[in-house]
Amino acid sequence: MKTASEALRSARKIVVKLGSNTISDANGLVNKEAMRPIVAQIIELIRSGKRVVVVSSGAGSCGVGAIRKWSRRHNINYKQALCAIGQVELMNAYKELFAEHDLVVAQLLLTRGDFEDPHRELNVRNTLFTLVDEGVVPIVNENDCVSVDEIKIGDNDTLSALTANLWAADLLVLMSDIDGLYDKDPHQYEDAVLIESVSNVKELRKSIDTEGKSEFGTGGMVTKLHAAEMVNQYDTAMIITNSRKEDILGRLMRGEETATVFYAGEELHTSGH
Ligand code: GLU
Repeated sequence: MKTASEALRSARKIVVKLGSNTISDANGLVNKEAMRPIVAQIIELIRSGKRVVVVSSGAGSCGVGAIRKWSRRHNINYKQALCAIGQVELMNAYKELFAEHDLVVAQLLLTRGDFEDPHRELNVRNTLFTLVDEGVVPIVNENDCVSVDEIKIGDNDTLSALTANLWAADLLVLMSDIDGLYDKDPHQYEDAVLIESVSNVKELRKSIDTEGKSEFGTGGMVTKLHAAEMVNQYDTAMIITNSRKEDILGRLMRGEETATVFYAGEELHTSGH
């Protein structure tokens, strides 16, 4: 059995995904105080010799905070306009926070089409490799203003899995607001147990409620399990961990914390990327 600690320690190329809940506060303002310690943990990974690409949500929610209106507009044009506004807030915060450690960030806004067209995919891959080789930290988000519903990737769990596969990462870390995957909904059942290691996510997906009949099947776990399946097929591991826990990545590295790791057991092994 593999643990999250082992997966994090042994990985050299890591995609770290941060969700909107971590990035913005209840009013849709960029929550720099919550982001600062996470950026510091990412920098620790980089300083310890690992290569990191960040996938960050938060454009939509930070747009509301910046313009202080339109939070109730459901029209697609307004939603896209909010993302265009919020993306600037987001990058501004990352730029400042990484600059405190003398690191430069770069913005990559991608669409589903970029992963489907081999020529565009190659260009993205080359850009990522060049940035990381030169010590720049790429921050990826979906290019929301050109992605209408029919062609949208739609959620950043999937975007981060696509990015991990494209960049041939060894590990995808989903920084969530839950400690990992539980055997039942931890909000409902006190005796819910954290599943520390999953070696066949495909089988697991069949056995839990993914239809949303219970809370457990909704609330983002479905896209996370799908992301695990996407990366595990290329032998890339995935961790779900809680970004609200202090120094969670450092503590995981030192084996002081637990989380859920998904990895390709024997039955899922394929040969390379
Ligand atoms: N691209 C969206 C945003 O930045 C986020 C999608 C997601 O949270 O999964 O607002």
